[in-house]
Amino acid sequence: MTMVSQRRPSSLDSSRRLHRAAGRSGVARPRPAVFFDKDGTLVVDVPYNVDPALIRLAPGAPEGLPMLARLRLPLVVISNQSGIGSGRFGADALPAVSDRLQVLCSALGASLTDCYYCPHAPQADGTPACGCRKPRPGMLWAAARRHRIDLSESWFVGDILDDIEAAHRAGCRAVLIDNGNETVWRDGPGRQPDARVADLHGAACAIVAALRIARHARRERRAAVSKAQARRVESSSSLNLRSMRTVRPLRVPPTRMQSSRLAAPAGRPGPSLTRHAAATFEANGQDRTFGVAA
Ligand SMILES: [Zn+2]
Repeated sequence: MTMVSQRRPSSLDSSRRLHRAAGRSGVARPRPAVFFDKDGTLVVDVPYNVDPALIRLAPGAPEGLPMLARLRLPLVVISNQSGIGSGRFGADALPAVSDRLQVLCSALGASLTDCYYCPHAPQADGTPACGCRKPRPGMLWAAARRHRIDLSESWFVGDILDDIEAAHRAGCRAVLIDNGNETVWRDGPGRQPDARVADLHGAACAIVAALRIARHARRERRAAVSKAQARRVESSSSLNLRSMRTVRPLRVPPTRMQSSRLAAPAGRPGPSLTRHAAATFEANGQDRTFGVAA
């Protein structure tokens, strides 16, 4: 479990920074992850609940979580817990919540990689007072740094448009579970989901399909690059061959003595001037052998 601090992350795109770091050190590239909102998305929404006994998985989770587990990607919970900031419960209640989530998800083969909570209450007008409360992307940035996550390849599943906006501000794609929990439908930049589904099973189907398409596109791009490289190598080696063929053979003019030998005596056949051939004939009553260059 991770409580995100008030300090705002740098505006530098963290996934790009991780890519650069991976390139320098030669370690594995950052990988995609699947992020979940908690209340109303992963578990049934019971407002301000921290009693593990009341935590139940949301509809579609028994079908969807095993599908996502098979992707073998980090599964991370991202949750606003303003109940701490507003004094409804203490931060010390959250480890038991995380443990209960882990038990429920692990039973379906979907072990959670981490849980991030924003403990801060919003301002009086409802806007975040920190960089981590959704729709701000601070928790996603923190998770990406800690778990080497490529946000641009990652997906977020949420049940309200603040989840969608937080995902998009972090560079992720986002699925909205349209289960009635969003009631305001405030429009704005980054608040249009990439997919809209009925439950967590629908979300898993959308994410698995999208990642499969992305993987196929990556393979196609790699194959096209290898083909282009092979073509370049082939054309450069055939160029070399052509230039080798255009080198003119060295022709040494015959010396006077050779000229007289090459000249066939009257009434006798001349030497066949084929390459590497040797012509033998009798001249002046003697057998003479000529090595003949074409
Ligand atoms: Zn916060």
